[in-house]
Amino acid sequence: MLSTKHQIVVVGAGISGMSCAYRLQTELPNVQVTVMSDDFTPNLTSDGSGGLWEPYAAFGTDPDKIKIWSDITYEYLEKLALSSDSLKAGVSCVGAHYLSKDPLLEIPCIMRHTKHVRRMTKEQARRMHPAAIDGYSYSTFTCEPKIYLPWITEKLKKAGGSVVKRRVRELTKLCEEFDLVVNCTGLGAEELAGDASLVPVRGQVIKVKGVNVVSYKSWLLNGDSFWVYIIPGINTTTLGGTYEYGVGDNKVAEGERKRIMDMCCWLEPALKNCTVEKDWVGLRPARKSGIRLEVDSTYHSTVKVIHNYGHDGSGVSLHWGCAAEVVAKATESLHIPYILASKL
Ligand SMILES: Cc1cc2nc3c(=O)[nH]c(=O)nc-3n(C[C@H](O)[C@H](O)[C@H](O)COP(=O)(O)OP(=O)(O)OC[C@H]3O[C@@H](n4cnc5c(N)ncnc54)[C@H](O)[C@@H]3O)c2cc1C
Repeated sequence: MLSTKHQIVVVGAGISGMSCAYRLQTELPNVQVTVMSDDFTPNLTSDGSGGLWEPYAAFGTDPDKIKIWSDITYEYLEKLALSSDSLKAGVSCVGAHYLSKDPLLEIPCIMRHTKHVRRMTKEQARRMHPAAIDGYSYSTFTCEPKIYLPWITEKLKKAGGSVVKRRVRELTKLCEEFDLVVNCTGLGAEELAGDASLVPVRGQVIKVKGVNVVSYKSWLLNGDSFWVYIIPGINTTTLGGTYEYGVGDNKVAEGERKRIMDMCCWLEPALKNCTVEKDWVGLRPARKSGIRLEVDSTYHSTVKVIHNYGHDGSGVSLHWGCAAEVVAKATESLHIPYILASKL
């Protein structure tokens, strides 16, 4: 007997692809979701990210959209951080502190969407670091993809979804095999969707262990592709890092490595006793006109492609909200009813 289920394929197994796949499989009735990807966790761009919820970089994207997607993700992470699954999912609540040696005339743009923000007094800033005279504190979440991706993959499989290793060369061919295609290929969309507006943004970080750092700390530097930050994780702490627009080289640079380690130890002296787990370079998938989340009808007469890529430095911060919009677009594209309640 032929299957009556809507066959959906999600291309890409990073944080964008896996969250879409899971939401589609669990929130739409009568669907069968397959994730198709040429590589998986722990080898992806998503895996090296410290996973801080801070939707700072997705330049060119409508700020109202960023607000909606990041708020949905924030609420989801909050719920998850308070659930018994938090450690298994790699999601934690963390205090965050931005410090500066100069007076801050306005809230830094990097913090535009953050919540529960408190301005520090000069004294409070100094207590955080002797060179600081100003700063902000707030609370946020970390969602570590290296832990989160295996967890959500298992949940997808338990819900009936499947995962296949395959490099996709043409979206048109997939439209012949499936009822709906969701393209979450990050920088891979340059080739797959012929999108020349994708830009790699190089980020170098160091993953360390053996240090009891519990809050996120960052030192604001203006006009540089480098900034100092420490993101505490469940098993490892991420020290960063660089934001190098248009640089596609993913080799570790020794000079940057030394700069990251020196600056992070200066910001948080407890790091002097840490053990380096590994150096890591990732390429953030930026796009000149911002995130592409839209339905594309040009590949096939009846089968639609939903693109969801180009999340730059905010893919973790936006993933659950973007996946919600993909579910809404899939509902319309397949003409099926949408069950509103998400099953966490
Ligand atoms: C150093 C660094 C730090 C970061 N820190 C943060 C942070 O703190 N907070 C935050 O929100 N974001 C952060 N980011 C950004 C975040 O990591 C990215 O936005 C996010 O990982 C993008 O996820 P994605 O799933 O869209 O892409 P990817 O993780 O790149 O996944 C793409 C998937 O598509 C597959 N694929 C590609 N082409 C094909 C093809 N032709 N056929 C089959 N499969 C294909 C790949 O194998 C992969 O599975 C950071 C990034 C870097 C580099």
